[in-house]
Amino acid sequence: MELRTCNSILDAIGNTPLVRLHEVVKSIPAKVYAKVEGMNPGLSSKDRIALYMIEKAEKEGRLQPGGTIFEATSGNTGYGIAMVSAVKGYNCVLCTTKKTSQEKIQALEALGAQVVICPSVHAADPRSYYNTAERLHTETPNSIYLNQNFDCGNAEAHYHTTGPEIWQQTQGTITHYIACVGTGGTISGTGKYLKDQNPNVQVIGVDAYGSVLAKYHETGEFDESEISPYQVEGLGKTIIPGNVYFDVIDHFIKVNDYNSAIAARRLAKEEGLFVGFSSGSALHALYEMKEELTENDVVVLLFSDHGSKYLNKIFNEAWLEENVFKKDREDAKVQTLNNQWVRKTPSW
Ligand code: PMP
Repeated sequence: MELRTCNSILDAIGNTPLVRLHEVVKSIPAKVYAKVEGMNPGLSSKDRIALYMIEKAEKEGRLQPGGTIFEATSGNTGYGIAMVSAVKGYNCVLCTTKKTSQEKIQALEALGAQVVICPSVHAADPRSYYNTAERLHTETPNSIYLNQNFDCGNAEAHYHTTGPEIWQQTQGTITHYIACVGTGGTISGTGKYLKDQNPNVQVIGVDAYGSVLAKYHETGEFDESEISPYQVEGLGKTIIPGNVYFDVIDHFIKVNDYNSAIAARRLAKEEGLFVGFSSGSALHALYEMKEELTENDVVVLLFSDHGSKYLNKIFNEAWLEENVFKKDREDAKVQTLNNQWVRKTPSW
């Protein structure tokens, strides 16, 4: 009898399930599926890029045994890198910001990574988490800086894994692919693979209010005035990452913290899918484009990570009230006073 085992936990990366949604998409005419990336061993899609980029560096001779891997990460990529480093025996140093949840930081440390908390400053500032990771790498012999925002290994990982999986799981029937955009690796690699199979597949990017990406896609302008604080982790950017292949993305939909949190919480209660904050963003984006869909469409939403990473955030009532609901009420009041914006009736 053939043993059905993994040689290491790394063999369990990928081949995540594609799960049909029911209750939360009652008002959507199309068939809707979720690619549940929180079922990777590191509980996010980022396991895929960590493994792919590290093995690419090994093959190219950029990483030698006993070497050190540096990265700037909001947490999930860090977890993947820490996991791969633990298995392969590399040192792992991760630069992040205070916005990253405490549970995520503790998980990185549990896997043996060293975590460097950097101030939340402009990306170009020498103290930013990007510049800190790069500087530490240049100061450390036998080290690499993975650079998930600009190294094309990020998008390639999804071109070779996530894209083919979704194409096979839907047996080529997918018509719309909706994914949150941070570094852009997930949407660019997966979207490019899907369009290579069928150029008619629509690829829809989800961006946060407070991020520069959607406006850049529409106008080609990097508009600093778009930048404002928000709570959803992993989604949106204040730089234009090299891994956002704008020509693969048909259009963007912007979402806010409030709608993302409500949608993520509905997924847990109504579908039994305990997924992260940005998964709520992807679901809300679907609601926003409901009018474009018909009963013949097959939509795939990419759910990037697992809900257990947000127990002290969107699944904590006090945090939610202080950081999302209160702000939403204040925004609604200001905007209504200005007579510019009245809360829309939810479309679910
Ligand atoms: N959601 C979460 C929770 C993430 O960690 C990330 C990665 N930063 C994304 C969405 C966006 O994925 P990508 O970086 O591939 O665009």
